[in-house]
Amino acid sequence: MAMMPNPESPPPDGLPTSPSTPPAAAATSSTSSPSRSLSRYESQKRRDWNTFGQYLRNHRPPLSLGRCSGAHVLEFLRYLDQFGKTKVHTPLCPFFGQPNPPSPCPCPLRQAWGSLDALIGRLRAAFEENGGKPEANPFGARAVRLYLREIREMQAKARGVSYEKKKRKKPPQVPQPQPRPPHTLSPSPANGAAT
Ligand SMILES: [Zn+2]
Repeated sequence: MAMMPNPESPPPDGLPTSPSTPPAAAATSSTSSPSRSLSRYESQKRRDWNTFGQYLRNHRPPLSLGRCSGAHVLEFLRYLDQFGKTKVHTPLCPFFGQPNPPSPCPCPLRQAWGSLDALIGRLRAAFEENGGKPEANPFGARAVRLYLREIREMQAKARGVSYEKKKRKKPPQVPQPQPRPPHTLSPSPANGAAT
């Protein structure tokens, strides 16, 4: 399996040959909407994968997917922080540790830990779906896991939010075990309008 010659044409922008060439459908920007039937998760995953591919193409020095390591993934995550919308207070900020600060402060906006965590999960899946080997998956690298954990702790402290205890209260869907009174299913044939 691993030694199969690559039948696809080389990537358009002169990247070094990578062991896993993404399928053309995912690599090229599709103007039409071929993925209307995809689930939200699937289309989000495809978008994320395209974003990462774009990041690789713009990378200086050039970086191929095959040579991408966990360190590059961290680089990518830090790059995404500039588009973040989550206020993360620095330890010097008077609002450090306050979930609902009373007034604005100059602390930076970052990607929320939960978004990064979900993003990595999707990219990790996409990497293997696009031919990457699980053991070479940069999104599953130890450094990435450690980074995410660090971010989670940092943001939990800075925002006064505990991610681990934040369990959503589910509406009680599980029927409570109630002692059922024995009841007869068939109505008694005695009464009724029968002649
Ligand atoms: Zn602040």
